Amino acid sequence: MDRHVTWYLSEKGKPKACYERFVYNKKETSKSDPTVDFYVCERKRKDHCSGRLHLRGNTVLKSSEHNHAPDACRQNVLKVVDSIKRQASTTEETTMMIIASQCTGVSEVTAASLPTERALKRQIQRTRNRNGRVPPLPASLEDLNIPDDYKTFDDGELFLLHDSGPGSQRILIFSTHENLMLLSESQHWFADGTFKVAPSLFHQLYTIHCCCQGLMMPVVFALLPGKTTAVYRRVLQVHNTIILFSMISVRVIFIIFIIFMTFSTPY
Ligand SMILES: [Zn+2]
Repeated sequence: MDRHVTWYLSEKGKPKACYERFVYNKKETSKSDPTVDFYVCERKRKDHCSGRLHLRGNTVLKSSEHNHAPDACRQNVLKVVDSIKRQASTTEETTMMIIASQCTGVSEVTAASLPTERALKRQIQRTRNRNGRVPPLPASLEDLNIPDDYKTFDDGELFLLHDSGPGSQRILIFSTHENLMLLSESQHWFADGTFKVAPSLFHQLYTIHCCCQGLMMPVVFALLPGKTTAVYRRVLQVHNTIILFSMISVRVIFIIFIIFMTFSTPY
């Protein structure tokens, strides 16, 4: 039996104390002795457990009986989640890499009790946001390095469908499979270039809208380095990639090309 106090962070970042395979949340600091903290069993509300722990630092002054058995699995789950959060705050690895590396080798019982993959991904993103680990703004398009977390949604679906690669004439195209299918089914399309809201490194944010149940919806977002014919020609070159990810018809891609060409200006 582990008679040492082990500490983990809750999902909200608050400390949880584990002692003899019971898990406790902090309730309050003793009013008569500010060096002593009172903890209550984390199953107090759920199972009406009255188990308590009195600590001075890591020294156990008092522990009381619980109305349930100790739960080693719960501590293992906290351990895995804690490790995931630590890795998230100290590395630039993708959410999937972190989850895979920390969940490999855990027992089936622990794995079955872990939060869902979606919830773990949210934990990682929250940890990184809390620690200010949002990537700094790059100085140029050559320096722009997009972390994998920014290329996909939480469920792993691609959002960045095309990146032409480092260079001053970089093009990024964002959409989803569902959006492209809506586009392919819509009878009317509307395209526009917006310059004011484009990130400073790009010349314009080019959007394509379609009609869906009477509503106008933006469905494709392209960050472009200019508004010349050459830029729009390069956009056309990605059609194979878009087809690959969306299974959208060549006819639709051709219409996209026509729209880009219509709004282009000469070299
Ligand atoms: Zn308890």
